[in-house]
Parts: sequence; structure tokens; C-alpha cells
Amino acid sequence: MHYATRQPVRLAWSDGVVTALEPARKAPEDAWLAPALFDPQVNGYGGVDFQRDQLTDDELLAATRRLRRDGCARVLYTLITDEWPRILARVRHVRDRRARNAELRHAIAGFHIEGPFLSAVPGFKGAHNADVMRDATPRDIEELRAAAGDDPVLLTLAAERTGALDAIQAAVSLGIKVSLGHTNASAETMERAVRAGATAFTHLGNALPQQLDRHDNVIWRVADTPGLVAGIIPDTIHVSPLLFRLLHRALPPARIYYTTDAMSAAGAPPGRYTIGSLELEVGADQIVRLPGKTNFAGSALKPIEGVFRAAQMLGRSWRDVWDHFSVRAAKLMSLGEPLAPGQPADFCVLRLEDNGPLKSIETIVRGERTADVPK
Ligand SMILES: [Zn+2]
Repeated sequence: MHYATRQPVRLAWSDGVVTALEPARKAPEDAWLAPALFDPQVNGYGGVDFQRDQLTDDELLAATRRLRRDGCARVLYTLITDEWPRILARVRHVRDRRARNAELRHAIAGFHIEGPFLSAVPGFKGAHNADVMRDATPRDIEELRAAAGDDPVLLTLAAERTGALDAIQAAVSLGIKVSLGHTNASAETMERAVRAGATAFTHLGNALPQQLDRHDNVIWRVADTPGLVAGIIPDTIHVSPLLFRLLHRALPPARIYYTTDAMSAAGAPPGRYTIGSLELEVGADQIVRLPGKTNFAGSALKPIEGVFRAAQMLGRSWRDVWDHFSVRAAKLMSLGEPLAPGQPADFCVLRLEDNGPLKSIETIVRGERTADVPK
């Protein structure tokens, strides 16, 4: 059954590429076909921290295969604030590993660079290290493009930093997508950033102080700036169910994509984990905290859980929100229309009765089942 039309369908593919998606006469009523999830912000998964240097193929495959088991075929490999040369070295290393491994090349669709060109102001900086934050220069952008080759890149920056608008223009001219985030840019600066080419906003509702001005704050400004597609973490923790519902009423569906912003604890048991040099605690409540502090630092959310939590918060079917975590996330990065002929045969088969609990999910990537997770 097709997740959106609720009609029986037949999907055909050859050599890992979709050749047809057409009506069928009948299908099992508890088997649903949907495009595989795509997550534009993953900092680590299944105990593997993407901020570490020199990760091996097996470590990268352990993370990406666990993501597949949880519904997600492809991610943007996300690197957070650090010294710029270290970020670039990680990009080069992962790109090099991918060049030798077709499975990794597909699973890691590109890079999301979140920092160091962010707001260092407490609250807005989130859990990032303000000591190494700085202004972006066009040269930094050229270096990023050179390190990432022709891979898709999403760059999150704060538009109020000196030189940010020039950096946005430089990035967009090199095919880098720009998302605003960890920012307290004014409405006017946000508008200018959109005119310079910014198209997205990173994890709206997070990287904010506890107290905000009721008349004018980042959440209101983003909602009022039509050119920005907002990422939202649908775990019920990073954005309250109340705010989550309000954002879905205020923004048209095309302006919302979902992301886990997962760190290494996602898809792994509670305990202590790292994002780079930060040591974090993850409790049974799945909340990721700096020990002794209240800020969140990434999530322990599994992509498929995000879909079902979003549906629950909105009082809708999982089928109604699925596109936020697949079609719209892919569109943000111009990755092509999922399940269309000519596109990779990446899809999920979900087993569940209509709106009943999920019984199982299998993610097929390029027409193939997931291999075992390396030890
Ligand atoms: Zn962040």
C-alpha cells in the first residue's frame, strides 16, 4: 500500500534504480511502502561519534546500518564547532573513506557543517564551544568546497556575524546550501540573509535562551520570514508538543523538515557518550545533557521514532508527516524526488494495521536489504 495514496502499488527497480511505480491490483493491507527517511543533521549514531578523527569503515558502517534499521537510508554527516582545520580534516577523511566504499558513499549523502561561524552568546551557542567560534571569510568557504569536492554541503551559520552575508553569497555561488542557526539575527538581517541565498533554519526552537522577548524573538522571526525552511526535532523534548503544533499551524508544510540532530547515543543504550570533546549523559528518558546542566546537546532520537512522535503530537497519521522526514528533507538538499523513476531504490516497508503500533520496518537501499552491523 502506498503511504500517501493508500492504494496498492508495485515498485520496480533494476541495478538499484527505480524503473516504475505503478498501481497494482491488490496488496497486503498491513504492508506500507514509503520513501526511505533522509536526515540532514546526524552527529553520530549507535555509539559512533562522527566528531572523532580517523573513524574506520566498520565504525562508519556500524552507524549507517543502524540508521537504516531505524528507517533512514541517507544522512548529512554533521560536524559541529571546532577549530576550522580540524573540521576540514574530518570532511576530507570521511570523503576519502566514502570514495572507496559504495555503501558509505550512498549512506553519507553529504556534509552538514554546523559551526564555528555561530553566535557565541550564551543560550544561542547551545552546547558548542564558543572559544573557537569566529567570523566566516570567503576563503573559509572556498576551503570547505575544496574539502567536500562536489558533495552536497549544508552550512549552518549565524547571519549577524561580521562578514556572514558575504560568506552566504560565496557559499551559494559554490553550490553550498546555507541554513541560519545558533543565531539571534534580527528580522532585517534574516531577510538580508535570505536575499543573499540562505534557504533554511537549523533546529528551530533550540539553541535559544530559556527566556525570550515576547514581542520579538528568533522563533517569531523565522515564522515571519517566508524563504526559510525550518528543521524541527520531533522528539517531544527539544520542541514541546505545544510549540510543535503551533509551528505546524504557522508554517505551510513545505517549510518544515524533520531531523533527529542525533548524537552517538541514538540507537544505543543509556550511558555516557561524546560529541567531540564534550562528554554527555543520556538517561532512560533519552534526554542528552551536559552533566549537571539543563541544556540539551543533540538528541538520542531514532528517525522512525521521530515520525511516530510527530504524528502523535499532531494527532495525525504517520503517513501525513512522513514527507517532512523524507521528501522535504531531500528537497532542501536538491537530492531528487524520492521513489521517482531514475532515483535510487531507497524505501521502507512498514508493517502495521492502519494507525496501529509499528510492528516492523525494513529499509531497502539501492534495491538491497541491510547487511549485518559490523562488530
Ligand atoms: Zn545545534
